[in-house]
Amino acid sequence: MSSIIYGPVPSWRLGRSLGIDLLPSGGKACSFNCSYCQLGKTVNLTTERGEFISFSRLIREMEKVKEVPADYVTFSGRGEPSLASNLSQAIELARDIFRLPTAVLTNSSLMAREDVRYDLARADVVVAKLDAHEQELFQQMNCPGSGILFSDIVAGIRAFRKRFKGKLCLQIMFTGANRNFAGEIALLAGSLSPDEIQLNTPLRPCAVQPLSPEEMASIKGKFDGLGKVVMVYEADRPEVTPLDLQETLRRRIKL
Ligand code: SF4
Repeated sequence: MSSIIYGPVPSWRLGRSLGIDLLPSGGKACSFNCSYCQLGKTVNLTTERGEFISFSRLIREMEKVKEVPADYVTFSGRGEPSLASNLSQAIELARDIFRLPTAVLTNSSLMAREDVRYDLARADVVVAKLDAHEQELFQQMNCPGSGILFSDIVAGIRAFRKRFKGKLCLQIMFTGANRNFAGEIALLAGSLSPDEIQLNTPLRPCAVQPLSPEEMASIKGKFDGLGKVVMVYEADRPEVTPLDLQETLRRRIKL
């Protein structure tokens, strides 16, 4: 079994998604500590980038599973993938080995940095988090590490959009804390010209209750006219508990 590659997991946004985690083992490393995080409390709250998985190990692990059928190779996992300073190298390697489109699920926290925007732009799809419209709500939803400003994040996403030729999606998680600001968040999201807006609510076990289908439908109404908007309750493929790779392979062999 690989400790850095998992799935494929059924994703309501990316089909069968083979996940790659470039972060250190031993607990979540993230620049946020979101109230709704399914991984629990952030152990290592940081904005410092580093190389946690060597290139040689990446090649070895990817080669082992290159025949696993999937729709996307997705960089995600136990924390924020852009903390890995070898993200662009890993994306290019994955594209060569798997011959599949690549995606990164980012919390957007480091998008103000040019090196991070460069790395993210190697992917075919970037899904960037945007749960608020201003600093106070941002603090409440995402509990960021010190010094992270919401205005810098927005400027970073804007700069990224101008250069990025791939598909940019904004993912917005709605809970009781931000549901009354859906109109303001929609206005901001529209101004960033994404290719798709993904409306979510925490359906996996976590400390926060999800919003109901009716509440989410009403929130979706605030995004009318902003292009392609998808919502978790309307997805054909519900997200389920991830299968680990060993289990996936075992099932394939049985089939
Ligand atoms: S950004 Fe993602 S991994 Fe980090 S705390 Fe928030 S939900 Fe968890």
